[in-house]
Amino acid sequence: MSYFDNNATCPLYPIARESLVSALDEAWQNPSSPYRRSARVYALLEAAREKMAGALKCDAQEIIFNSGATEGNNAVFAWAKTLSDEDSCVLVSRTEHPSVIESAKASFGTKIIWLEVDENGVVSCEQLEKLLREQKVSLVAIMAANNETGVVAPVKEIGSLCRSFGVKWLCDATQWIGELSATELPAADFLVGSAHKFGGPKGVGFLRLSSSVGDFHSARGGEQEEGRRGGTSNYPAIAAMCDVLSFLDQNELAEVNSRVAWREAFEERLLKTIPGLVINSSEATRLWNTVSLRMPSQENTRWLRKLDKEGFEVSTGSACSTGSEEPSHVLSAQGLMAEVARRTIRISSGWLTTEGEWVALADAIEKIWHGFSGDGGDAFHIISV
Ligand code: PMP
Repeated sequence: MSYFDNNATCPLYPIARESLVSALDEAWQNPSSPYRRSARVYALLEAAREKMAGALKCDAQEIIFNSGATEGNNAVFAWAKTLSDEDSCVLVSRTEHPSVIESAKASFGTKIIWLEVDENGVVSCEQLEKLLREQKVSLVAIMAANNETGVVAPVKEIGSLCRSFGVKWLCDATQWIGELSATELPAADFLVGSAHKFGGPKGVGFLRLSSSVGDFHSARGGEQEEGRRGGTSNYPAIAAMCDVLSFLDQNELAEVNSRVAWREAFEERLLKTIPGLVINSSEATRLWNTVSLRMPSQENTRWLRKLDKEGFEVSTGSACSTGSEEPSHVLSAQGLMAEVARRTIRISSGWLTTEGEWVALADAIEKIWHGFSGDGGDAFHIISV
């Protein structure tokens, strides 16, 4: 099988596996226990934090280890709620991950103002500036890179607008970290990520808090993470996450980004051979690994089944909304009608994907397309938007 769903999760890097297995065997003790072997694990945990701080270019004390981005996003909104008064609101981009959207709704309900995106999925900085000027805002939530389309947000502009208005910014960097360098991300007040999106284990991640945040609690009942997130530290997973992030930062990012050429060749070819096919967000800056392909006909679930049989695993969008009858909220925000959004498949390559697999995937898509054309289906029923 060829795996093209790396934005949902990706395989472990060998360096992460080595750290994980070795820590499970050699450093399994509870780092908070009162004997020397635990003190050693505590020291290792803090060394891992320093390593991550090196990759994220921040102070080690700003990092809270947790179970991943969903937890981080929930924690930030719960925190923001405790500090907000009646007349303040939160600004949330319409294309955020459900863990941001649902946390915002749970904590702020009608006090959310949605930030619009253009037809390429890029958030409007003019609207952001206008709202920051006019409203009393307690938090801005805009992701760094989108999980469905790969669209990269104008992070420098967003960072400087939030800073100049003194408003805190939650930057969900789950899809950015491991694909682009953390040095290119301006310092957000809250930065969240999940290790399994960049070749680490699942169920571990981080929340980076800027020093301006002050008193913060996400899980009470333990003194771990300086009391900010209680619960026994998952040192083996943390070690693997920090080792792989540091490895990527030092060796891999330039190399994987050069593979954008494979994706571009794939897109160019299909645009020529399949009439009516559209690349969503093609005018925006996108991650090197992601293509959101709007097929000229047939529901995406039908494409997925056929591609699976041909040996290719792709998805319809966010894995978190698989099973949902609703069309993608990301594509709807970009102005696509429900019927059109339902013809979109998401292809996301990863560190193991080869150039040959991109070519073979294009072959398979063309083959399936010709099959649809021949089965009396609606292959030539092209709806444009
Ligand atoms: N934010 C974004 C942008 C994501 O892509 C994901 C995972 N699909 C999450 C948050 C949630 O990550 P996790 O499931 O690891 O908590």
